[in-house]
Formats: sequence, C-alpha cells, structure tokens
Amino acid sequence: MPDQRLNYVSGEWTASNTDETFETTDPANPDEVIATYPQSDAEDTERAIEAANEASDEWAETPGPERGRILTAAGSLLDQRTDELTELLVREEGKTWSEAGGEVQRAIDIFHYFGSKASDLGGTVKSSSARDTNLYTTVEPLGVAGLITPWNYPIAIPAWKIAPALAAGNTVVIKPATLAPGVVHEMAEALDEAGLPDGVLNVVTGPGSEVGSTIAGHEAVDAVSFTGSTAVGNTVYDTATEDGKRVQLEMGGKNPTIVSDSADVEQAADIVANGAFGVTGQACTAASRAIVHEDVYDEFVDAVVDRAAAIDHGHGLDDPGMGPHVSESELESTLEYVEIAQDEGATLEYGGSELDREGYYVEPAVFSDVDTEMRLAQEEVFGPVLAVIPVSDFDEAIYVANDVDYGLSASVVTDDHTEANRFVEEIEAGVVKINEKTTGLELHVPFGGMKDSSSETYREQGDAGLDFYTISKTVYDN
Ligand code: NAD
Repeated sequence: MPDQRLNYVSGEWTASNTDETFETTDPANPDEVIATYPQSDAEDTERAIEAANEASDEWAETPGPERGRILTAAGSLLDQRTDELTELLVREEGKTWSEAGGEVQRAIDIFHYFGSKASDLGGTVKSSSARDTNLYTTVEPLGVAGLITPWNYPIAIPAWKIAPALAAGNTVVIKPATLAPGVVHEMAEALDEAGLPDGVLNVVTGPGSEVGSTIAGHEAVDAVSFTGSTAVGNTVYDTATEDGKRVQLEMGGKNPTIVSDSADVEQAADIVANGAFGVTGQACTAASRAIVHEDVYDEFVDAVVDRAAAIDHGHGLDDPGMGPHVSESELESTLEYVEIAQDEGATLEYGGSELDREGYYVEPAVFSDVDTEMRLAQEEVFGPVLAVIPVSDFDEAIYVANDVDYGLSASVVTDDHTEANRFVEEIEAGVVKINEKTTGLELHVPFGGMKDSSSETYREQGDAGLDFYTISKTVYDN
C-alpha cells in the first residue's frame, strides 16, 4: 500500500479540496507506486498563502535565537532519519544510495548552518563623525516567501530555500516538484516536531501551472524563489514581477570543462566523467561540454570513453555507478538528443542506448567531433551525454566555453597558472572551478549563475543566501 500523503497547511496535514491525487513511482521499477499526493488547485494554494500571511507577524517578531533553535532541532531530527530519507529519495527520484545519502546530509547541514545564523542578523557600526550617534543596521524579513523547486535535488534545494527564509523570519509556502515531493514532507514533519508554529511553513503539491503559478502571482506573497528550467523560470519571473515581488531564479546550465594541453589527461578524464555522468547527468551543474585542446583530444576521448564504459547500472538501493533517469519523458528527451546529435554530424563514440531492462536506464553517451554551433553544444540535455569539442588554443577554448546562453558552472583542467587565472577572469559563470568537476557545491559560499542560468541579482547559500529573504534598515540614533 503506497503512502497517502497530504498538504501541510496551518500546521495540519490536509487533503486537497479537489479530492484528486497523483502518484509517484520508482524510476527503476515504474510499476511500483511509492506514494500518492494531493493534486491541489489554486484554491488550496490560496489557503496555504493565507495561512503563511496570518503567521507572518508573529514569526517575524520571534527572536532570532528561537527561530534558530527550531531550525537546528529540525536538522537533528532529520539526522536521526537519514536512512529513511535516503531510501525515500532513491525510490522517488532514482539517485544511487551514495548520491542520495550525500544530498540528505547536505540538507541536514543546511538546517544547522542557517539555524546558527538566525541569531546573528544585523550589526553595530561606529559612526565616522558623531560620538553621540549610535549607528546600526537591523535586518527584517520580507513577509511570505513562495518557493518553487525542481525534482533533481528534491531535498537539498528546498532546504537551501526553506532554512534561510525561516531563519530570517519569513513564513513560507513551498510547492515541491511533482516527481519527488516526499522528502519535503519529511522536512515539514521534522520542523513541526521541532516546534515550528502553525502556518509558518506550508507545503502544497500539484501541477506547476496551477499551484506554482498561483504562488508566483498572489498579492500576499512578497518574494518568490524558483529553481528549475529556464523556460518555466522566465514565466515565473514575468508573473511575479507584475506586482513588484522580489524574485530569485536559478535555472539551467550548459557547463563546460576546458582541458588544456598542459593537463594530465587521465586526471581530466576523471574530472569530466564525474561531472558529466554523476546523478545520471541530471544536475544543473553537470559537465555537458568538454572543450579539449587538439594535441590531447584523441587521448582524452579514449580515456573518457573508458570511464563511461566502466559505469554499472542498477537500482539506487544497490548503490551502482549510475541510477535511472527520473521519468520516461526525461529518458525520451535524452534519447532524442542522442539522435539529434548524430543527425547533426557528431560522432557517437560510446553509449546513448536505452538499457534492455526494467526502468528508465540509458548508457552514458560520449560524442566527439562536436561543433559549438550544434544543438548538442548549445541546449541543456539533462542526461548523461557529453559533447567533446576540439579547439586549437586557449583563446578558442574560452570563446567556445562562453558561446552559450547559459553561465552556471565552469571548470578548467590545466597545469598552467596563467591559464587558470585567465579562466577565472574571462569565464562567464557564477561557479568557477580549477582542476575540479563542475558539479558539487559547498553550502557556506554563494551559489548562482550568469546569463540565462540565473536572475543574477541574489545568490543562494552562504551569507548571501540570507540577503534574498531580508531587507535592512540603517539606524542613526542620536
Ligand atoms: P521545471 O522548470 O519543469 O519545474 C520546476 C518547478 O516549477 C516544478 O516544481 C514545477 O512543477 C514548477 N512549474 C512548472 N510550471 C510552472 C508554472 N507555469 N508556474 C510556476 N511553477 C511551475 O524543472 P524540473 O524539470 O523540475 O528541473 C530540471 C531543471 O531545473 C533543469 O533545467 C535544471 O538545470 C534546473 N535546475 C537548476 C538548478 C540551479 O540551481 N540553477 C538546480 C537544479 C535544477
């Protein structure tokens, strides 16, 4: 019997007024239903927004240390349930046990991190002239934060929005992704158990076009933080800015790794393969383009094909090298790009076929002879497909790396310090890595992109993660 889950509104687990539900299934075993969720509509969403609005003043007035205590306690409760959370994440989303376990740990760490920040907002500054003037800043919440999140990091991304929003004194309405909402319910349960007052956090599941767009457009929502595709993000932006809401967008990527002729090719192949094929390529920061100096090109292609061919597939609970795609449509989309790339004239060096087994499995694919104009080199695939693009020098490598609409994460593998420094200066990306894979983030430093990957104005995570959810006043008290 699958879990029958409800919305969380005003501190109560509540059915949708539509009485309709949707199911989540195991991507490794699609006949297995994991849970059912309310197929909510605009009315359900409005009720959740009202609950958040009503709870707003009291939560804003709750002292920071008390808010922090609740976040930290929720983090500890989640910590006691890591295996349960990891299993739910694996079963709904398809990650391997190691990948899902790492993500769950990240969510726990985020709750502890922002829990400790909650008591630390605002500050005192010495006046430059008047000795009798006390100069200080206060930091105030915005009100109701509307959060819309994707399926590919179904616990870490909601955590890195919920925790700073609550730490800063905002109330929250969140719409988790429909493919894997379960872990957000677990977070709500932990916060409830930790003593979060009713209405401070509200969770509503249902279609993005109904629940998500109601959040984006509702007049009682003061700020919207969205992570997902660039197409949907742009719609959310247009709706949310109509009445002047503050908006944060984190969207797609087409992340490059440049491989210099000075690179150790074996090390470069490890870095690129990990970045391209980890989490089945379903990361916004996944390495989807390797831009490789012609002198080491053939050797690199062979080495990266070896890595791809060595990956084993299986159910995430058995912790294989690669789990399935999250859904049939994501699998179809990857297979379609494999065809498009071949039609465009790229050479399929390895993989790209659906596996002949239950579940949405695909072999990782490596393409050579890719030109920067090709769709494979320009569009986000969101699957384990790597385009290897030859270049004749470092100038061309930087040009090609920047020759896309996106600008999220980028890395370079080089043994040359001057090249590394040039890369930092000239690359158009919000996350810049030297001799590291494009994926993987630390929680205490800002995260965000450039160009079509982000709204650019507000970063997430670290101290910067709090800025989006706050407004400051500077007080001159004479
Ligand atoms: P998506 O854009 O399809 O959906 C994201 C969320 O928006 C979901 O909750 C969805 O239900 C909701 N939504 C859909 N239509 C809506 C509408 N009209 N109004 C309001 N909300 C709506 O993205 P996805 O398929 O869930 O996730 C994959 C995408 O997310 C990829 O493009 C990936 O690059 C991106 N992503 C970006 C980051 C980042 O930090 N930059 C991180 C993870 C994923």
